[in-house]
Amino acid sequence: MFFTKLRLAGFKSFVEATEVPIANGLTGVVGPNGCGKSNLVEAMRWVMGETSARQMRGGEMDDVIFGGTTGRPARNFAEVSLTIDNADRRAPAQFNDASELEVTRRIDRGKGSLYKVNGRETRARDVQLLFADAGTGAHSPSLISQGRVAAMIAARPADRRAILEDAAGIAGLQSRRGEAESK
Ligand code: ATP
Ligand code: MG
Repeated sequence: MFFTKLRLAGFKSFVEATEVPIANGLTGVVGPNGCGKSNLVEAMRWVMGETSARQMRGGEMDDVIFGGTTGRPARNFAEVSLTIDNADRRAPAQFNDASELEVTRRIDRGKGSLYKVNGRETRARDVQLLFADAGTGAHSPSLISQGRVAAMIAARPADRRAILEDAAGIAGLQSRRGEAESK
């Protein structure tokens, strides 16, 4: 599984619909301070199921919606889609009928988030597990924000183990075990 495309609309500074192709190999994003580089990475984190507004550098989740500028009114919703190539059929069984998966998260002001996979409404939990199985996710070490390297070095052993489990790709299994044990 690998990512092929990121689409945003009304998300933070990306007020107009924007499409970013993700090619094989290395993709670099360059630009002046404040142009939205971190917002792009946060969009990926968000569509993977981030639930913490603080992790999105906001006070509440509605803060990811374009808040307006002097010349432009605020928007009432934000939408981010991440397209996954699933030709190797490694996605969880419920998604494995498709060779391409488009995961979409939408938030309407004051109404919370909704997730869809290929247009079909999906639980946040299933989206989070889909990305955990792909070896990534909102909290995975494959997304490193500023200050996180120092935080990893200073982490408690249990937290560091979680980072290693994530890197080994077994976070999804651990998460399912936790769910099964609590039933
Ligand atoms: P740096 O090089 O300094 O790290 P960057 O390219 O990573 O900069 P970002 O932090 O992604 O920049 O973008 C910051 C910009 O996004 C700011 O101008 C901020 O006003 C804008 N922004 C963030 N949230 C919203 C929002 N909800 N509505 C409108 N603009 C927003
Ligand atoms: Mg930045």
